[in-house]
Amino acid sequence: MLDLNLSNLSSPSANGDEPLKMLVIGSGPAGFSAALYAARAELAPVVLTGMELGGQAALTHMIENYPGFPEGVGGSELGDLFQKQAERFGSITEFDTATEVDLTKHPFQIKTESGEYQANTVIIATGARPNHLNIPGEEELTGRGVSYCATCDGWFFKDKKVVVVGGGDSALEEALYLTRHATSVTIIHRRDELRAGQILITRANENPKIDFIWDTVVTDVVGDEKVASVKIKNLKTEEESAIETDGLFIFIGHTPNTDIFDGQLALDDGGYIVVDGLMQTSVEGVYAAGEVADPHFRQVVTSAGMGAAAAIQAVRYIEEKGL
Ligand code: NAP
Repeated sequence: MLDLNLSNLSSPSANGDEPLKMLVIGSGPAGFSAALYAARAELAPVVLTGMELGGQAALTHMIENYPGFPEGVGGSELGDLFQKQAERFGSITEFDTATEVDLTKHPFQIKTESGEYQANTVIIATGARPNHLNIPGEEELTGRGVSYCATCDGWFFKDKKVVVVGGGDSALEEALYLTRHATSVTIIHRRDELRAGQILITRANENPKIDFIWDTVVTDVVGDEKVASVKIKNLKTEEESAIETDGLFIFIGHTPNTDIFDGQLALDDGGYIVVDGLMQTSVEGVYAAGEVADPHFRQVVTSAGMGAAAAIQAVRYIEEKGL
């Protein structure tokens, strides 16, 4: 772990203000849980929302596995509740995005789209973004039939045919959501076995609008103004064909949002921030929580738990250092 020279820990920021006690980067379940715990410890944390208030969870139509909501809760509704609860104790929400950080000196320096912060502790909760297939036509037709969010775009496919790529929980959950609008949902998976949990597999198998194409990848997205068809290839037979579709929804995993921390914090091979059991990163006073540091669980409840743990540790750090 990098042991910083803490001699200037309480030095004022450039504009004459004291540094923040805590800056939280990211506004998903991990970020707002961290802010809730920090606010209750009277650290007056500032939360930078990033581009997506509420994070990826807020884009989920219905969350059925967050405890305390026996009937499920809408993703954006849960995000609102997280925010309100943190703000009730003094957390400050800033609609701003971190663009550059300097974690080599203390207080830490964080540049944003509209300003600059200095902070004695930082909790990174920047989450992850959906992976792309990187095939011809995908980028050009994004927003014109290619999508990475069924909850956001499903409505546009009322009475239309759509294709979903992926075999994990996201692919099945989003495919099930799409059956509300679309007439048919074809799930294309590169293997003949799904990675998703059994409850979603059962629901998908029982849904008459869903069918599967196995051992197959999408190789091209075709269309002028909007998606008209996709070219596909069977990986076992090498047979190539095309299927007509109005939309292509891609759910093939995520990449952590760690670009601005590269070179400053230890990252693993997948780009995830390395943390110890106490959410501590390789720099003392900097913690990470949620999907940005978790390639394994990636649940709303585990992200919220990590956020709370990170804040508890940050509070201890501030007390120990007498900040
Ligand atoms: P995931 O579990 O990593 O699944 C990604 C899927 O995409 C896999 O089936 C994978 O195929 C396929 N894939 C990856 N790269 C591909 C490529 N280049 N071309 C074609 N297919 C490709 O991702 P996820 O579904 O987003 O889930 C992420 C995590 O969130 C998981 O831990 C999941 O349990 C959790 N999650 C949970 C829920 C829930 O509890 N309701 C909902 C959503 C997500 P292979 O199977 O062959 O590797």
